[in-house]
Amino acid sequence: MPQSQTSQGVMGLPAAREQVLAWLESGSLRTRIPGNRRAVLAEQALMCGAELAGSVKRQFATCNPEAIAQALGVSVSQTHAAPAFHDLAALAAYHHRPPRIVLFGNVVQACREELIRAGLEHTAFRLRDICVAHELYHHLERGRETGPAAMREIAAHAFAACLLDLDFLPCALDQFAAAGLRRKATA
Ligand SMILES: [Zn+2]
Repeated sequence: MPQSQTSQGVMGLPAAREQVLAWLESGSLRTRIPGNRRAVLAEQALMCGAELAGSVKRQFATCNPEAIAQALGVSVSQTHAAPAFHDLAALAAYHHRPPRIVLFGNVVQACREELIRAGLEHTAFRLRDICVAHELYHHLERGRETGPAAMREIAAHAFAACLLDLDFLPCALDQFAAAGLRRKATA
């Protein structure tokens, strides 16, 4: 396959696939996908997210995830309630009835502080947009979800990375959110 047709070419993320595989390996996302299927499925998920981001950019003529959400009738709000127990470090969630994106303010704040501590102010500044973009993918895929949940998460991250022209996949933020929460818990 020529470079331009791989996720690397589409996303300009030279290490996207390796990053995804390491993420799956880390166990932060529970999945039963056998090791030998992961690379192929990850590549497909990256492509899927990247392609959808491309068509959304063309359709809405903007890369602003909140503007796109508004155009789609998806509300964006913030709660200080904690995420579901099984996903305590979740930054945001998508609910479909009515369509809405809810940011977990405490987790977002903990993640933002941790990013700033690591010298990643630019990413900290874009955190809200990144979260909204990721959840927008779940809205857009609704009704035609295919494949394992872990792969749909990867596609959502690829979608956010492409829409916002990031040079990393937002699954990298998981560790900052978890570290930020740990720091707050022990403060
Ligand atoms: Zn997701």
